[in-house]
Amino acid sequence: MTDQSKWSDDDVRYMRAALQQACIAMEESEVPVGCVVVRDGRVAATGSNKTNAERNGTRHAEFVAIDSLLAQAGGDPAAAQFHECELYVTCEPCIMCAGALSLLGFRSVTFGCPNDKFGGNGSILSVHATACGGCGSADDNTRSSSGAAGGCGAAACADGQEPRRGQQGAAAPAAANGSHQQQAGIGPPQGAARLPGRPYPSRGGLLAAEAVDLLQCFYIAGNPNAPNPHRAVRGRPAPPPELVGAAAMQLG
Ligand SMILES: [Zn+2]
Repeated sequence: MTDQSKWSDDDVRYMRAALQQACIAMEESEVPVGCVVVRDGRVAATGSNKTNAERNGTRHAEFVAIDSLLAQAGGDPAAAQFHECELYVTCEPCIMCAGALSLLGFRSVTFGCPNDKFGGNGSILSVHATACGGCGSADDNTRSSSGAAGGCGAAACADGQEPRRGQQGAAAPAAANGSHQQQAGIGPPQGAARLPGRPYPSRGGLLAAEAVDLLQCFYIAGNPNAPNPHRAVRGRPAPPPELVGAAAMQLG
């Protein structure tokens, strides 16, 4: 059930459109995550996961939609008017996508279910609040504990490794209180104003149950593109295939 006191009719309508994109992904044997981008009160672009079809782990729904916007604008980021774009995505953007949304200056993000493994809007890191410095930034003040530069401080940005929870002091305020309801008005931390990216308001939980249902249906049916189960670790049985598949989720 949707809490109408919190979400507008338009919010619900756009998220339902994003869920339709997630269904398209599932029909194509992709992890069912979808999104729409709203600009000037209309859907300007849609996206669904295409990581398997394009054999490219970065082809998350958000990137597909961003590329559509860029194509419409003749490849000119300024003409794409990202600062006027509002993203509705069925699953919390991962750290990679959260960084891209920050660097492009998206106006806002609304997501469905949290992404507890890779979420960049509160679950693991809070790139929406801290802004992203971009990989390879020379700003020493944004250097993370791993030695990697960049405002998001994500080790994943720099060396491809999964970030460690709590690596960055400003990370995961929502995870800490069990909520994924980050709201507008979250400001950047001290010094973040100099980062190339910008913070953006992010809200979560809209039609989350529907988004989770799709993911569960996908994994219960079996991810045809999941890697083979790992061999047993000494003293520990091999993980069941469904957990291996979950670990390989290309979310958000
Ligand atoms: Zn992503």
